[in-house]
Amino acid sequence: MNAVPTTMAALVKDHAGPGLELRKVPVPRPAVGEVLVKILRTGICGTDLQIHRWSSWAQRTIDPPMIPGHEFVGEIVAAAAETGGFVPGQLVGAEGHIVCGRCRHCRAGDGHLCPETRGLGVGRDGVFAEYATLPATAVWRHPPDIDLDTATMFDPFGNAVHAATQFPVLDQTVAVTGAGPIGLMAIPVLQHLHARAVVVADPSEFRRDLAIKQGASAVCLAGPEPLASAAKELGCPEGFDIGLEMSGHPDALGALLATVATGGRVAVLGLPAQAVRTDWADISTRMLTVQGVSGRRIFHTWHQMAALVDAGITPASVVTHHFAHTDHATAFDLAASTSAGKLILTWSERGR
Ligand SMILES: [Zn+2]
Ligand SMILES: [Zn+2]
Repeated sequence: MNAVPTTMAALVKDHAGPGLELRKVPVPRPAVGEVLVKILRTGICGTDLQIHRWSSWAQRTIDPPMIPGHEFVGEIVAAAAETGGFVPGQLVGAEGHIVCGRCRHCRAGDGHLCPETRGLGVGRDGVFAEYATLPATAVWRHPPDIDLDTATMFDPFGNAVHAATQFPVLDQTVAVTGAGPIGLMAIPVLQHLHARAVVVADPSEFRRDLAIKQGASAVCLAGPEPLASAAKELGCPEGFDIGLEMSGHPDALGALLATVATGGRVAVLGLPAQAVRTDWADISTRMLTVQGVSGRRIFHTWHQMAALVDAGITPASVVTHHFAHTDHATAFDLAASTSAGKLILTWSERGR
């Protein structure tokens, strides 16, 4: 392995406005408790698209100059003191929610609930770069022979697994709203867990086709009527047992609540940009359960993902495009369209 250089290429949000610039910046130095990772591949996430286009969320949240990006696979090239067990050469990813380790939730083993969470590539410099520093407490070791696209997708795959495991799905009918990458990744997980049927609703024909390829039992257009017809066609006129909201569309939660059966359960991962109105009288009288879902259980969900990958369930099946990091502009344009699954930017080859 070559020596670590002093400068690196990085995609930088250098001002409060749209766009990202490929720049030469200093390679960061790992502090006590941190490792330095050479980034091999990164995924482009909806969060990164918001930072790129400078959405109202990004304007409230991001403090330029900073390096976004949180979905990656890389190799440790240096480990500072107090990084127990991590050594150069290991293939790693990381939990992008960097938690405090000290609050009531962290100390109870519920780090995913930490109110002090800082997001990799959001609240601290991320991985759209040739190198990144990470706290060892957030690092996840992959088996050295894991497929690199699979490893790159562990962050969004974790969202999918976390949402898909909120309720027992064995023999249940499940409706998924949104066939973006995370909705698509949830389909084979639900099938592996022996859901009775998985119906996926999305307005994009391209994405509905991807949902079929991922193993959806049926697909339909978005909205309560197409979902209700899909439930009837399955022989469940009373509605679905479980709903997973993966789109963030303001109408999607209402469509799911209207088409789950009495006593139905809905997990909500999608983030609408604005508050949405909800019929709480219906939730109350039909005894529905609504469960918010964010991030991944640290590291419970990661162990589940490793087991799923061992069982042949791979999130890499939603990767539709690879780009060199120098082609970032093209990649971001395509990622913002609905004619792509997951896009990967490559930064380095392994072991070089
Ligand atoms: Zn992400
Ligand atoms: Zn905490």
